[in-house]
Amino acid sequence: MFDCVIPTRVARNGTLYTWQGKVSIKRNEYREDNSPLDADCDCYTCKNYSKAYLRHLFLSGEILGSRLNTIHNLHFYMALMAKAREAIAENRWSQYRDFCVQRFAKSNAQ
Ligand SMILES: [Zn+2]
Repeated sequence: MFDCVIPTRVARNGTLYTWQGKVSIKRNEYREDNSPLDADCDCYTCKNYSKAYLRHLFLSGEILGSRLNTIHNLHFYMALMAKAREAIAENRWSQYRDFCVQRFAKSNAQ
């Protein structure tokens, strides 16, 4: 899964992984949403662009949208794994696993 095209492919198709679950940036609800994609993410995309702008780029077919979405998804995967390593080292893997399953397993793109 981590040596795979999924995070980049789905990013190019407008699906973004966040700590709140999957986000489909093309949804109309983000049209005027000036908040960052993921307030808990410190990637370049989340620090500099809003959901509304990412949605605009995606719907306009701007290549910048694909790049910014890809930057975020790759950063998210790296953070997901860093937190997993941290949880293992601190002997709290079960809690982290349960958090991830609860947060992501049933998360449909919204
Ligand atoms: Zn981000």
